Amino acid sequence: MRIVVVGGVAGGMSCAARARRLDERAEIIVLERGEHVSYANCGLPYFVGGEIRDEAALLVQTPERLKAALNLDVRTGNDVVGLDAQARELTVRTAAGDRSLSYDALVLSPGARAFRPPVPGLDSPRVQTLRTVPDAVALHDEVAGGARRAVVLGAGFIGVEVAEALAQQGVETTMVEPAGQVLPPLDAEQAWPVTQELRRLGVAVRTGVAAEEVLPGRDADTVVLSDGTRLTADLIVLSAGVRPDTEVFERAGVACERGAIVVDEHGATSLPGVWAVGDATVSTDPVTGVRRPVALAGPANRAGRLVADHILRRGTARPVPQPLGTAIVRVGELTAAMTGANRAALDAADVAYRTLHLHPNQHAGYFPGAAQIRLSVHVRTPDGLLLGAQAVGADGVDKRIDVLATAIRAQMSVTDLIDLDLAYSPPYGQAKDAINLAGMVGANVLDGTLALWDARDLDAVRYESLVLDVRSAAEVATGMIPGALHVPHTELRGRLDEVREAAAGRPVRVTCASGVRSAIAHRVLVQEGFDSASLSGGMLTLRAVL
Ligand code: FAD
Repeated sequence: MRIVVVGGVAGGMSCAARARRLDERAEIIVLERGEHVSYANCGLPYFVGGEIRDEAALLVQTPERLKAALNLDVRTGNDVVGLDAQARELTVRTAAGDRSLSYDALVLSPGARAFRPPVPGLDSPRVQTLRTVPDAVALHDEVAGGARRAVVLGAGFIGVEVAEALAQQGVETTMVEPAGQVLPPLDAEQAWPVTQELRRLGVAVRTGVAAEEVLPGRDADTVVLSDGTRLTADLIVLSAGVRPDTEVFERAGVACERGAIVVDEHGATSLPGVWAVGDATVSTDPVTGVRRPVALAGPANRAGRLVADHILRRGTARPVPQPLGTAIVRVGELTAAMTGANRAALDAADVAYRTLHLHPNQHAGYFPGAAQIRLSVHVRTPDGLLLGAQAVGADGVDKRIDVLATAIRAQMSVTDLIDLDLAYSPPYGQAKDAINLAGMVGANVLDGTLALWDARDLDAVRYESLVLDVRSAAEVATGMIPGALHVPHTELRGRLDEVREAAAGRPVRVTCASGVRSAIAHRVLVQEGFDSASLSGGMLTLRAVL
């Protein structure tokens, strides 16, 4: 049997390697257009930033090593330019000309290419993308060669990583993002600390504006923004998202949705004998049911392995799971991560949900280095099914998001989080871990023990309610919601008449720093007959929303 794999990186090479482990006799050929296979595309920004110093470290495997270890026939510089599915034959372009190659099973893992928005001037030689090792080397060389001013177009995950890398190298970097925030997949309150951190790193962040034109110049280019600003750039990095690289295959009759290959639960395409995996395929969001490609390495790697199972062990292969889109990025001293649906996706899908905001420490408060995590969890109402979660913090974010990704995959409800038996000792967590606490808050919200108000409703709340700030006098001195009544939570039980008088029959909306003391105050107030609610996430969330 001859298995031909198109694309020799994440999904393609996982498939080829697994196929060999399952079948010693199969002929396995990997066709790769570029000069490298199995390279660390996720590591490229760190090479640009100088943390990975050796280019060779990016080359996880070579064709020679793959031949020796797995007897794979890996052919770089082999661009697949045609597919005749009926004849089971590919047309492959090489330096020596076009050749035909037949297959019994074909696996497509062509990945994605950088999206090029219709902005005049993007063909300037100073505009670069970051997809491959040569791209990373070119960026690295530009910086070494004296590029001092960079503009990064797009503040998605790759854009943010590149901006940080350039700033690390002393390049004056401006990031331009048409959306109102950096990292658009994050909810606004989680993106805010990331923006602050980028600014701390020296990156100028320009959100809500788009590049309208690039004017090539002799010594530098000028990027003209939609608000009229002109930025001078020695280097422009285009990171405006990606699109499935599927033109050849769509032309050959492989069914696609908006350019992404449609696959069944085993990765099989519409054409017999043809499978597809990775960035080039469309998948269904398990939370909202929306169909979209997911450009992440984990899903591509896992799908590649499962497709090999399906080709060689039909009948027993497990289906390819639908990715939740779990993602993580380091930004300076912060980590930002997310899993499942964000607020925009839930709103678009018309799902009824509540968002819980918490700011627990990543480990015991008394242990050195304790730092708060900004944790938000979307839960379906009224049943509490976990829908999505995001976290930003200096430490412990990866662990919490991975636990929540597992819980969402297991279709747990928020109350199930209370019972998770998580590892604890002071340097690592708290006896009630952040995850357990999210469960407790969620259970309280679902059974009515805790009523929350949302920072985004501040204007309406100020108009209709008494805002009660229960922080200490010192905290309040740093700023308070205008018109709020200040009663420290420790004094509340003795000053209820004052609150009743100020409320004059209106609801009371309580606030504190992070939502813990306001929840305590809320319990005091409801038991005294007040219509009360506690600000979800407290002033820490409110500041990030405003
Ligand atoms: P790829 O790994 O892109 O491989 C596709 C290969 O197919 C390419 O080498 C291409 O040259 C080749 N090809 C395409 N068409 C043809 C053809 N017609 N003939 C022959 N060869 C062809 N994901 C994460 O989860 N975490 C991260 O931190 C992360 N960081 C990233 C950083 C950068 C800079 C980049 C570029 C991506 C990052 N990703 C990250 C995304 C991740 O790398 C991709 O999701 C993953 O590599 C997709 O695997 P794939 O096999 O679908 O495509």
